[in-house]
Order: sequence, then C-alpha cells, then structure tokens
Amino acid sequence: MKGSQSADISLAPAVYVETYGCQMNVADSQLVMGILRRAGYQRVEQPDQADVILLNTCAIREHAEERVLGRLSDLARLRNRRPELKLGLLGCMAQHDRQTLLQKAPYLDLVAGPDTYARLPQMLRQANFDPIVDVRLNRDETYAGVVPEHEPNAVRAYVTVMRGCDEFCAFCVVPYVRGRERSAAPDAVIDEVQALARRGVKEIVLLGQTVNAYRHGETGFAELLRMVCAVDGIERVRFTSPHPRFMSSAVIDAIASEPKVQPYLHLPVQSGSDRVLQTMARGYRVGEYRALVERLRAAIPELALSTDIIVGFHGENDDDFEATLELLREVSFDSAFIFKYSLRENTKAYRLGDTVSETEKGERLATAIALQERISLLCNQRLVGRDFPVLIEGEARRGNGMLSGKTPQFKTAVFPASDGLGPGDTVLVRVESVTSHSLRGAPAKAPLQAGSAPEVRRPTGEMPTV
Ligand code: SF4
Repeated sequence: MKGSQSADISLAPAVYVETYGCQMNVADSQLVMGILRRAGYQRVEQPDQADVILLNTCAIREHAEERVLGRLSDLARLRNRRPELKLGLLGCMAQHDRQTLLQKAPYLDLVAGPDTYARLPQMLRQANFDPIVDVRLNRDETYAGVVPEHEPNAVRAYVTVMRGCDEFCAFCVVPYVRGRERSAAPDAVIDEVQALARRGVKEIVLLGQTVNAYRHGETGFAELLRMVCAVDGIERVRFTSPHPRFMSSAVIDAIASEPKVQPYLHLPVQSGSDRVLQTMARGYRVGEYRALVERLRAAIPELALSTDIIVGFHGENDDDFEATLELLREVSFDSAFIFKYSLRENTKAYRLGDTVSETEKGERLATAIALQERISLLCNQRLVGRDFPVLIEGEARRGNGMLSGKTPQFKTAVFPASDGLGPGDTVLVRVESVTSHSLRGAPAKAPLQAGSAPEVRRPTGEMPTV
C-alpha cells in the first residue's frame, strides 16, 4: 500500500471501518481491526485519511442495504483524490448479495463474508486489479486466538462467544449469511475477558445470535456465565440475545444466583399470536413465552425485560396484531424494538410473500410504538424516588456538566457530575424524573462496592390501552 496522507503520520497503512447493524457487527469490526493491526495496519477515524475503507454491513432489512449502497457510492468519490484507495464490503450483506454486489457497486475491491476475516490481509494484498470476493462459510471458524481491538478506555466490552445460528426462523437471513452455530472454547472466552479486566473494563456483554444455546464440549451457557463472573475486576456481566427456547433452569439459576449477572434480559418474542409464531417457525407458543417470563420474574424479582416485535409478517391479521398489543400490555416490557416486516430473499418466508400492505404495516408499527412508549414511561415513572447503582460510562450526550451510565436494569441514568467521579466508577443515583427512555437523578452516596444492587419492584396496575 503506498502514497497517502497517512504516510505523513506513520508508515502503517491506514484503515477506516464503518459498522452497520447489531452488536455482533460492532464486535466483528473490532475483530477485523485486531486482525489488520496484527498485519501492520493502523486505524483512522476519518475515511479521507484511509488507504483502505471497509464497511461492515447488515442484511436484516432492505433499508439497511440501500443505505450502505448509497454510502459506498459517496466513499468511492474519494478515489478522485486518492486513486489507490481500496474499498471493501464485509459482513452479512457481502454474503447475502454476493451475486449482485459487484454490479450494484462496481467500485468495490473486496467483498468478504463473516467467516473470511482471518484472510483479510492477504485479500487486501491481492485486490490490485480485479475485485476479490470471498464469502465462504466455515462451520468451525470462531476466530480463536485473535485479539479484537476493543474501544480504548471503554467501561463495557462485547465478547462474541458463539457465531451463526441453527434456528432458521422463517423471516431471518442470519443462518444463511452467518452460517451454522458454533461456540468459542471457554478458555478463549475467559482469556479475552481477563485481558479486558486488566485494561480496566468493568462490564462484559457476551454475544451470540442465540447466546444461551452456547455449548462447547461439557460447557453450557450457565457454566460459561459462572466462569465469566469469576474473573476478578469484572463487576457486571450481561448477554444478548437469548432465545426463549434455550432459557433453561440452569441458565435462570445462574442469572439469579450470580450477583455480577445483571437483572436485564432482551428476550425476543416477535409476535403475540400463536398462528404468526408458527409461521415464523419460532419454536414456542405465546403461553410458553408468558410462562417463561413468570419463571424469570419469580427467580429474578428485580428483572427488567425488553423484546423484539415484528409487525406485518406474512398472514398477520387484525386479531393477530391485537394479540401482540395485548402481550405488550400484559408483560409490560421495559422497552421493545419494533420493526415492520420486510421480505428477505433466501428466507423461508420469502416464498410465502407479503400479505400486509405497506400502509397497514406502517399503521401497525406506529400503534405498537405508541403503546410501548407509554408502557416504558409507566415502568420508569415507578422508579422515581428509588436509588440505583449506576456504572458511569462518561459525559452525558448533551454534556452540560452531566454524567451518564447504566443501572443494573440497563436503563440510562443521567446525573450531575461531581469531583472524583468518572468512567468506571459506580455511584448510587436517586431517580428524580424520567422519560420513556432514560432516568434523571442525583448521586445519593459515595461510590459503591462492586456488585451491590437494589431491589426493583415490577410495575403493577393499569397498563395503557390504545
Ligand atoms: S434465532 Fe431466528 S431470528 Fe435469531 S438469528 Fe437465528 S434465525 Fe435469526
């Protein structure tokens, strides 16, 4: 790699990585940077400083793909000033659209799927005249031995413990673009967590598409959770996303009994209708999901819950949608990520087609979001006057002398800065006011001992109606 502005700063070729989509992709970008750093690259924060630009992409929704194609064509213009700039596309979209990508984005030098990152340095060396495309899936690839380049000074770090998915939900491209499920060796996970603890990371989030299905030899997810909790220096442990089907008694026991595992679960339900869940091939009925929530709340009284909902899936009628609204009211999720269904090629549901119009999907989306906003607000209003240990992450987004961090229930808390408090400290915050998305308060006492958590009562009483 030669001739660049970055050569003034360092001889190392400069790489700029832009990430789209979920936390798995954020973690994969850190993995990619770890691989490239070892091969002599340095990271830059601006695309116009880079010798190599990589977009790590998502294929879950069509909209995300359109955004990436637009961004690619903008970035390709940087070649007017820097003809040797290499442009690469990584991640789920690389895998999903491999047949058509080079026609849609002919300026790409590199297209690499999620299981090929170990070969990136070699591919970049070869991508001189013709584009290099490598989207082979590999059932065994867990990137053992690669040290991801985590955010410097981060309080929280993501650690990928499993890759791929075997569930094949009817709407989802993940098993096709990320391949079959495989788990990292527990030793490799613990090595990474220990290294993060030595760097001052306080909170670990274990990642996997169905993270609680983790299994490596004799080690299941419950055992892995306990092993991670045993690492000195780590104060909080979270994981995402669990699948309701794999929420075993052993996993519930581990969450309930390990003080470092935080009382917050993102537990995707997708729909409140059995008919729709069956077409989605989710592998559970609404009653089973309800019963699971009851078991979780009985075992972990202070638990906060969030979920994913898809509206407008194939065959969803008014009654099905009403059943979803009813489930939102009944469970009273602290928050929910609600999406319009979008048909994705190569999935089972693609053959079934769309039965709900875009207008109707939009109306259902707006209705469900409005309901959830009110439920979230109600959940948060019940926290006013209570104290929570908040792990400080840094300045609040709007600054103004405020700090921000997360409660054990993963709620954002904002409070006035005071001397001696900074990222990585845990402080007890008394909630004074709330919105549906955050809490505002004031420090109640001096920094806390790690691991202490207050009791949080579940909301009771009337849920909003629409
Ligand atoms: S569990 Fe279903 S929705 Fe989640 S990644 Fe696997 S196939 Fe997709």
